[in-house]
Amino acid sequence: MEIKNVLKRNISTKVVHGCKCYDPHTGAVSFPIYQSATFRHPGLYQTTGYDYSRLQNPTREELENTIANLENGKFGFAFSSGMAAISTILSLFSPGDHIIVSDDLYGGTYRLFEEIYKKYGMEFSYIDTSNMQDIENAVKDNSKAFFVETPSNPMMKVADLKKISTLAKSKEMLLIVDNTFLTPYFQRPLELGTDIVIHSGTKYLGGHNDTLAGLIVVDDDILAERLKLVQKSEGAVLSPFDSWLILRGIKTLGVRMEKQQQNAMEIAKWLRNHKSVINVNYVGLPDHEGYSVSKSQSSGFGAMISFDVKNTHIIEQVLEKVQVIIFAESLGGVESLITYPVLQTHSAIPKEMRDRIGVTDNLLRLSVGIEAVEDIIDDLDQALDIS
Ligand SMILES: *Cc1c(COP(=O)(O)O)cnc(C)c1O
Repeated sequence: MEIKNVLKRNISTKVVHGCKCYDPHTGAVSFPIYQSATFRHPGLYQTTGYDYSRLQNPTREELENTIANLENGKFGFAFSSGMAAISTILSLFSPGDHIIVSDDLYGGTYRLFEEIYKKYGMEFSYIDTSNMQDIENAVKDNSKAFFVETPSNPMMKVADLKKISTLAKSKEMLLIVDNTFLTPYFQRPLELGTDIVIHSGTKYLGGHNDTLAGLIVVDDDILAERLKLVQKSEGAVLSPFDSWLILRGIKTLGVRMEKQQQNAMEIAKWLRNHKSVINVNYVGLPDHEGYSVSKSQSSGFGAMISFDVKNTHIIEQVLEKVQVIIFAESLGGVESLITYPVLQTHSAIPKEMRDRIGVTDNLLRLSVGIEAVEDIIDDLDQALDIS
């Protein structure tokens, strides 16, 4: 559904107000949950604009328009998970099409490409998308799209979206960006020439580790029409209640992102000086490889950190000893979470590829929450202690 009357406001205001801001029928400030599968037609050939909730539902529509508004795109789509959103995008392609993918990416995305879509004759190449030369070298006659995560997961490499989008346009390819880590609060890929933005709304947008969701935003009418067809035909849509939970989460996106980033910066600096830690990947550290590209295309660095510990045997100790930080998959919520990528988020990626990108047995990934930063640091300190 195309949004009308989008007010050009600051992103901190836009997140609070959503698209319609309130229920136009009752004035309810919390947008209502339209828990209805179907809608009464006033008469033959007549519709209220809603027919059946797989096609459209007012609560889902408010979320779809809100995310489109935040990403500065025209059309938003909400799905039952991030993976459902990515799968929907892949149905835009045909057997024989080639997609160039960030080699350092969410393991579930890799699994979807390799174990599901490859069977249908699609081809995927995994390369370092922070390296323009590698990207150019990967383009073949049948290349149809770039699928990029930036910062990447879990190594936090930064891709230059403007440069990749220029290349994509010259080759008539699409640029698809997974913007889960930074959210539109810090990065709006459509403004940098990206064609399709996707999100796991489960992470920062929802923000409370309580709801699965996936979102897509595009600006192009033809792409929007094709995505709408897949969305309503395949039916992996987000429920009205879950749409409402994500809308509620988005209201505090601005304050959460600011606080999480502030905490992450302090923690990254602290970790770097810890004797059990050998390497810290956080985009906000000025000597990070992607720092200057990040400065040029994003207004923040986010709150995801990965780091290598000196010895593999410390890993088990850390994961057992953390008390404030929770040892669990996922990221982006108010609670700080720690994961062990080789066994969790990236277990679907073959060892040889993991070794190449740096996802080693010594790597931990930390999603920094909104707790008091001293408490997170104290917790890491006692968990990493090897005396
Ligand atoms: C979690 C995640 C996904 C998958 O989303 P789900 O909501 O878990 O299906 C995709 N991309 C990134 C970067 C993620 O972190």
